[in-house]
Amino acid sequence: MNWVDNWHCRFCGEPARGGPVCEGCRADLPWNDLACPRCALPGATDDICADCLGAPPPMDMSLAPFVYAPPIDQLIQQLKFNRLLADARWLCDALADRRRDHPAPLPDLILPVPLHRWRLWWRGYNQAAVIARHVGRRLKVPVQLHNIGHSGARVHQVGLDARARRRAVRGAFDVRLDLRDRHVALVDDVMTTGATVHELAQAVRAAGARHIEVWVLARTPKSQGRAAARQSTARPGQGRT
Ligand SMILES: [Zn+2]
Ligand SMILES: [Zn+2]
Repeated sequence: MNWVDNWHCRFCGEPARGGPVCEGCRADLPWNDLACPRCALPGATDDICADCLGAPPPMDMSLAPFVYAPPIDQLIQQLKFNRLLADARWLCDALADRRRDHPAPLPDLILPVPLHRWRLWWRGYNQAAVIARHVGRRLKVPVQLHNIGHSGARVHQVGLDARARRRAVRGAFDVRLDLRDRHVALVDDVMTTGATVHELAQAVRAAGARHIEVWVLARTPKSQGRAAARQSTARPGQGRT
């Protein structure tokens, strides 16, 4: 599928080429260009952040093309309630392009962060799976959509600090795959505290994975982590951490 060329920029309304965002608006987006290579936390340099130095996370690397900030945050919020639209496509393309530009070899397998079945039923689809499928197609990496259960009943996470949120998602994933010696990428829409992907990364590591990457569309900056997380759990179906 190729972009048709008659676009009007979704931000400024001016004619745009090759996609729904014009070059000027594209340049103004909150690109996450300097970030920690382990957890994708936006920073002043691309060195490993203090958190990852202090307590290395269970993933080997993380990528997020955008900082979770206006106007990307609203687009991603809309993604949760709409199937893959033009907006979602260019956001996913930005993630695929970011990974393609990275020199490391591509993973063998992409695993979207599963949604608890109650949330899946409520919302009708898992946005992480939608992103994974699109990015997998662009990068020609297979996507494994099943065989990971979201077994843990999640406690209400509003007002919990990062450590309490990590406790709340512990044991949430049930990986029914043999991942021995596999190089996998875990995909989600946003990483805030990282509690959810940390938990899945640990389960995937326990299933044998040798190298684990995390790919998200956007990463929440540190100072906003708790506020954004609180907002994202304010309604059922929005509880990603
Ligand atoms: Zn524009
Ligand atoms: Zn880090």
